[in-house]
Amino acid sequence: MALPENFLSKSLARVQPSATIAVTQKARDLKAQGRDVIGLGAGEPDFDTPDNIKAAAIDAINRGETKYTAVDGIPELKEAIAAKFKRENGLDYAVDECFVAPGGKPIIYNAMMATLNPGDEVVIPTPYWVSYPDIVLLAGGEPKFAQTTIETSFKLTPEALEAAITPKTKWLIFNSPSNPSGAAYSRDELKKLTDVLMKHPHVWVLTDDMYEHLVYDDFEFVTPVQVEPGLKDRTLTMNGVSKAYAMTGWRIGYCAGPKELIGAMRKLQSQSTSNPTSISQWAAVEALNGTQDFIPTNAAVFKGRRDLVVSMLNQATGIECPTPEGAFYVYPSCRGLIGKKTQDGKVIDSDEAFATALLEQEGVAVVHGEAFGLSPFFRISYATSTEALEDACARIQRFCASLT
Ligand code: PLP
Repeated sequence: MALPENFLSKSLARVQPSATIAVTQKARDLKAQGRDVIGLGAGEPDFDTPDNIKAAAIDAINRGETKYTAVDGIPELKEAIAAKFKRENGLDYAVDECFVAPGGKPIIYNAMMATLNPGDEVVIPTPYWVSYPDIVLLAGGEPKFAQTTIETSFKLTPEALEAAITPKTKWLIFNSPSNPSGAAYSRDELKKLTDVLMKHPHVWVLTDDMYEHLVYDDFEFVTPVQVEPGLKDRTLTMNGVSKAYAMTGWRIGYCAGPKELIGAMRKLQSQSTSNPTSISQWAAVEALNGTQDFIPTNAAVFKGRRDLVVSMLNQATGIECPTPEGAFYVYPSCRGLIGKKTQDGKVIDSDEAFATALLEQEGVAVVHGEAFGLSPFFRISYATSTEALEDACARIQRFCASLT
């Protein structure tokens, strides 16, 4: 039965379902039909959650830590978060400036819902993580895109940031290492951006540091407040356990920022999800306080896969694949293939047409760049086995060579 007219909210009508989830689902459907499909769409580590973290969750269940907790997280986790920011980023946050939510995504959602009014603008560099613009739209704000280019390795320039800021700008959403490009900003590159931000005291910064621990070749991760302490009273520093500790399903994200903003987010969370899962919170305490040995081991595996994928893609006709500093994505250009035809006569006139034909012809699922706001590119997640990546890249090479 169809829903009554005007039943769905106007704010929901402003947003799109997640393109990355759609590609993952399409690959799953094709597999269910018996097709040999390699999915490179999913943004989650293929590793299992480390045993010490699982054991902490089981202990929590056995101790009866199965009740409501404080809305913004148990004190033990907020203390572990404050200690993490001090230890890893040199940042001093009090426990009441720390906040826990059911994932990194709800941190961004809470921050935008708590602060945006109609007409407020949020600067989002492209290519962006698919959820940023839609969260801003849901919260009633206006995304303002600041384009990057492959020539600047998909990094925002100070000029592009300056040009995107208006008197209506409330936030910049900053993400390094980036989903989808993998680009990460060095201290010098970031300082040039924070210098621009210092000239615009009305602009707040939401920095999404989810991929902090996935950086390669001795790259030094830095977060905006570390580079420019003068931004601390208008920055929300966000992070989570999903990617670094292979805990996507546990749903724990966290942040630190000015107490009044944290209070507003707490008020919102108290009337939406309430506290994140008690058991996952105890697991996250162990993730942050326990051994960190897992992180470099996994980063080494990801680095090997990144190098393999970059090298194999650069051998494919018409593909140009920069080497990103971090995360587990590459964002190659398919510009050299636009205008070509598949064997059955379909014209590759966009990155979406490229991704669709690649899936149909070779069973490789990638996400087209338009979904991330920058074409003609596509995103590959290399958070899958080395064998699958080798096979997928060989199929991409064959696909590209078959176009005329
Ligand atoms: N931020 C970025 C850049 C991401 O790529 C993701 C997940 O893909 C998230 C935030 C959300 O993380 P979580 O799964 O903890 O909600």
